[in-house]
Amino acid sequence: MTATILDGKAFAAKVRAQVGEHVARLKAQHGLTPGLAVVLVGEDPASQVYVKSKGKQTVEVGMNSYEHRLAVDTSQEDLLALIATLNADPAVHGILVQLPLPGHLNEDLVINSIDPAKDVDGFHISNVGLLSTGQKSMVPCTPLGCLMLLRDHHGSLSGLSAVVVGRSNIVGKPMAQLLLRDSCTVTIAHSRTHDLAAVCRAADILVAAVGRPEMVPGDWVKPGATVIDVGINRIERGGKTVLVGDVDFGSAAAVAGAITPVPGGVGPMTIACLLANTLTATCRANGLPEPEGLTA
Ligand code: NDP
Repeated sequence: MTATILDGKAFAAKVRAQVGEHVARLKAQHGLTPGLAVVLVGEDPASQVYVKSKGKQTVEVGMNSYEHRLAVDTSQEDLLALIATLNADPAVHGILVQLPLPGHLNEDLVINSIDPAKDVDGFHISNVGLLSTGQKSMVPCTPLGCLMLLRDHHGSLSGLSAVVVGRSNIVGKPMAQLLLRDSCTVTIAHSRTHDLAAVCRAADILVAAVGRPEMVPGDWVKPGATVIDVGINRIERGGKTVLVGDVDFGSAAAVAGAITPVPGGVGPMTIACLLANTLTATCRANGLPEPEGLTA
């Protein structure tokens, strides 16, 4: 069997185009321009790349992008003061604080100081609670992107057996909640799971969000299953630095029914979903109907 490749790059371009059309309509019909504020503390190179890319794509879909780059030794008090200003600013509909924060800052406190209605990352404790109780919330971008790819491929996910490997607050747990909401039978696996291979082999949908290069081989994949590889790992191969996922793509693609590649799978969906969330937040803040197909 040769798996269908779930092309996240192409899908993300479609999502961005849809967001762009909605933004144009908001401007024309309501005089509204969605605004996304991104806060970066320090000079972590990977974070700088993400923030630059987020800013560029925000502007490309017609939104306003507000970047706040703060020194690495910014105090918690100053960061919280900035967030309070952004919370109160009606031109800002979405706020994202780039993680990880420098060690002297309390991430939970900072995230929970964001207005939940502007929490486009979906990490605020209120949004986590709303998602886990099946209520309308802001949904974390990476799991939302995975869900969009899965719904597009399968239509209904109802009754499918889903295994999520990884239980982080930003990927594993919200992914599991979303799959449960779509009526999958969900197992969350992690570093203490016994016989992970057998657990994975039972999955119709296998999501790997671990951070270990090519950890999931093809013989952990049920024939015909859909494999979503969230991992982004930089490794040295043939004298070059290459990006690989948490799944061994070659052996898994020979068994799976469908699979996301790395790069070009889940990765591009994350920023597209950030833009979709910013649009959703703008609509909600103004009592307007939410864009169809762009929320969970
Ligand atoms: P975390 O490090 O926060 O979580 C990793 C999870 O994997 C933990 O729950 C851990 O279990 C589990 N784990 C670690 N080793 C094993 C093992 N040997 N067997 C089974 N489970 C294991 O990572 P994140 O969730 O933040 O990210 C996961 C991956 O996704 C990374 O590669 C990251 O770069 C990528 N990522 C990609 C994004 C994208 O846009 N595509 C966005 C965010 C992340 P335990 O809890 O027991 O320690």
